[in-house]
Amino acid sequence: MNNRKLMEEALEVLPGGVNSPVRAFKAVGGSPIALVKGRGCRVWDADGNEYIDFLASWGPLILGHAHPKVVKAVRDEVEKGLSFGLTNPHEVRLAHLVVEMVPSVEKVRFVNSGTEATMSAVRLARGVTGKRYVLKFDGCYHGHYDSLLVSAGSGVATFGIPGTPGIPEEIAELTLVVPFNDEGAVKEAFERYGEDIACVIVEPVAGNMGVVPPKEGFLKFLREITQKNGSLLIFDEVITGFRLSKGGAQELFGIEPDITCLGKILGGGMPVGAYGGRREIMSQVAPEGPVYQAGTLSGNPVAMVCGVETLKELRDKEPYPQLEARMKQLSEGVGKILGDKGIPHRINVVGSMMTVFFTDREVFDFESAKSSDTELFGRFFRKLLEKGVLIPPSQFEAWFVGTAHEEKHIEEALERISEAVKDL
Ligand SMILES: *Cc1c(COP(=O)(O)O)cnc(C)c1O
Repeated sequence: MNNRKLMEEALEVLPGGVNSPVRAFKAVGGSPIALVKGRGCRVWDADGNEYIDFLASWGPLILGHAHPKVVKAVRDEVEKGLSFGLTNPHEVRLAHLVVEMVPSVEKVRFVNSGTEATMSAVRLARGVTGKRYVLKFDGCYHGHYDSLLVSAGSGVATFGIPGTPGIPEEIAELTLVVPFNDEGAVKEAFERYGEDIACVIVEPVAGNMGVVPPKEGFLKFLREITQKNGSLLIFDEVITGFRLSKGGAQELFGIEPDITCLGKILGGGMPVGAYGGRREIMSQVAPEGPVYQAGTLSGNPVAMVCGVETLKELRDKEPYPQLEARMKQLSEGVGKILGDKGIPHRINVVGSMMTVFFTDREVFDFESAKSSDTELFGRFFRKLLEKGVLIPPSQFEAWFVGTAHEEKHIEEALERISEAVKDL
């Protein structure tokens, strides 16, 4: 089975040949590849080509592919059965780890994806406050839930408009969208709708418009304005959780949200999400409280074991300085290669995540992120792929390094990138 044949067969039976749109490479052009194996920081496609992997399955694989401890724990658990439908010990173990590691979380509910986590968190915020509106930021992605899959119209503090057919305007209208890092726009939204804003949801470090850090004081401002108005602050830490520190962005910036959404690294490669927060908020979730949310396969033992081994490794080894050093090596190397070639670019780095924008503007929100030359990014992506470097197939995503990327692997990647950029 090779890439081309597999994709042909996929197109017959899967919309666009994929189960998640970005995998079709529409944003970058070229033929999509199928991956068949991963080890450490490398992956192999169906044609047998090898790549140094900075996609990391979109973030979860912070320990690299097929980490021996994780694989062993999963294998042992599979032997015992795949699902029981009643409580298993590993849910309790993982919950204790999350509570221990994430500063603002005292109780947690596991779900099966990041989307489910944000969807349930918004329901909980509405249930707890009795208010209707959700305020989100343009360019922040929180999964494909109706209320959060909306984008802004022009102007400041606009009503959301549906981001896709299938979302009724009446639902999108309950979502307010403002530019990221824009305190004035948030204030204006609270002046007009403050009475009825259930929650503000934010990626504390944006990863889905490319990496965009919060401006100094922005998260603190959000903490204060929500508190003052009786709204809840939701940190969507699906990417940043366990990545920027063992307690996520909230630990790094010292700001505690009311509800935290987790996913990606939490499952270590298995489909796991979670939402958690202070005891009095989480006690509103059924069966302790009235806000209903459930899942047949939630807390699946195999998935939980995978998460437990991943989090334990991060808690015990705290590899964050090492990850940061490797990302510094990578980002500075890429910056030098592009600089020598005279290609205008901007690299945003936070911890072990980064994005290369092809623009000479500072990137601090979605508008400025969109100034990047996405056509050039497409060519850059395809050249890198050709030389054996896999990065996310979209401008507006993050590159990740993990513990399996050693200094020598970054050097090797930089050599490949240098080759790739030669005839860009
Ligand atoms: C990936 C992501 C989600 C959605 O998670 P899924 O598991 O893809 O549903 C939500 N929020 C953020 C910040 C993400 O990066």
